[in-house]
Amino acid sequence: MLLTLTTTHRPATDLGHLLVKHPDRVQSFDLPAGAAHVFYPEADEARCTAALLVEVDPLKLGGGRKNRAPEGFALGQYVNDRPYAASSLLSSALAKVFRSALRGESRDRPELAASAIPLAVRVPVLRCRGGADLAVRIFAPLGWTVTADPIPLDETFPEWGDSRYVDLTLTGTLRLADALNHLYVLLPVLDDAKHYWVAPDEVDKLLRAGAGWLAGHPERGLITRRYLAHRRALAGEAMARLTELRLADEPPADDSIEPATGEVVAVEDVRRASLAVRRREAVLAALRDSGASRVLDLGCGGGALLTALVADRRFTEVVGVDVSDRSLGLAARRLRLDRLPERQRDRIRLRQSALTYRDDRLRGYDAAVLMEVVEHLDPPRLPALEDAVFGHARPGTVVVTTPNVEYNVRYEGLGPDRFRHADHRFEWTRAEFAAWVERVAAAHGYTAVLGGVGDDDPEVGTPTQMAVLTRADRDERADRRDRNDSDDRKEATNR
Ligand code: SAH
Repeated sequence: MLLTLTTTHRPATDLGHLLVKHPDRVQSFDLPAGAAHVFYPEADEARCTAALLVEVDPLKLGGGRKNRAPEGFALGQYVNDRPYAASSLLSSALAKVFRSALRGESRDRPELAASAIPLAVRVPVLRCRGGADLAVRIFAPLGWTVTADPIPLDETFPEWGDSRYVDLTLTGTLRLADALNHLYVLLPVLDDAKHYWVAPDEVDKLLRAGAGWLAGHPERGLITRRYLAHRRALAGEAMARLTELRLADEPPADDSIEPATGEVVAVEDVRRASLAVRRREAVLAALRDSGASRVLDLGCGGGALLTALVADRRFTEVVGVDVSDRSLGLAARRLRLDRLPERQRDRIRLRQSALTYRDDRLRGYDAAVLMEVVEHLDPPRLPALEDAVFGHARPGTVVVTTPNVEYNVRYEGLGPDRFRHADHRFEWTRAEFAAWVERVAAAHGYTAVLGGVGDDDPEVGTPTQMAVLTRADRDERADRRDRNDSDDRKEATNR
């Protein structure tokens, strides 16, 4: 089995740094089912190609006498296409041999590892169940230009037709890590025959490797089913978690992925219509309406809203608050805090704080956002958050969003009794949310307006619920200001 990876990024030999494999040497690795070798058929300034060759030992693959013949006949475990055709074995070899590159890490060339570079991948013999078209449907939406040439069964007998194999070439400008993750997941998907036991942690592996691209992929259903070897329970779990990811809309790891074919439209649709984007827009609109300039994003997570807030100059101070160190790290990276000019950086603050404890640093702000946060708290801790936010910090406006559990029946893979995220402690019906908002508003002197985000289903409502709470004394002040304004106007007309 052979896979080659070529770049024309200059100096092309940097590929050796990214893969952590020196272009001048042949290196070999033991695999559970054979051996892998890495070498460079070409390596100069302008063009560099790394080759991964996997040699399969049919005896090791068979796994001993206990195993049944995998190919359905007695000698199947010795006589099969494994040594020649790419498959999940190639994929596990990739994971083992290019481990750090797959994670996007590079000690020597971190910037390059994070950049999209021109890449060409070739797998001369790939078993492809579903034909060459499927290879296009699977790779094109990810930004690859795909050539999948069916390999004839026997060149000397064209009338026998094509084999199940294709000669696959992918070209595109992508991050190396993304390219490797695409291959890691999708080669076995095309082969559609896994050669090892599919354990429950395969779902985690799939979601990790699929981060940033699988949730929005138009063929995510097929990919998930095949990757998990058609194990329904696992595929169901994976689909539910992908749906949640799509809702959370972690943007693709590399925004520069430019899809290249007709399917792309589908990907773009998914993104355009993405509920997370609409939610963010709705929250921003509510903040603008409130006239706020100093804003708290409570439970800011990876900082998607912070980025949008910072982009709008009317917000003179933007504070992201989260209990999770990791989230704050992600937010700092997404905001590129270390690279911002000082004047910009002075508008942004990230604070680690638990929202269930009073924190004086959060007092005196115009507005606060609790976007998709309350449902992450154990219900008995909710009163503590109410006290800390509405009782102590007391921002002029509070925008709250949370899932509408009634809508879950409309999601693929989610039932009425499944939450959208494993970490949700509850999800409210519309009546439950309304009752909570009303009680909190009354207890802390706020007035509330309820709304929703997303398509309004006549039966189950919108997927996201939203409430804007305004501190009553602020309302009164605003009323007074309005009255004074109209008095002034009256005076002006009287004069
Ligand atoms: N608001 C973001 C993230 C939502 S996920 C968005 O809409 O994309 C919920 C976030 O709340 C997580 O980042 C989690 O770390 C944070 N969180 C949960 N409980 C918290 C608590 N008690 N104090 C502070 N943050 C909390």
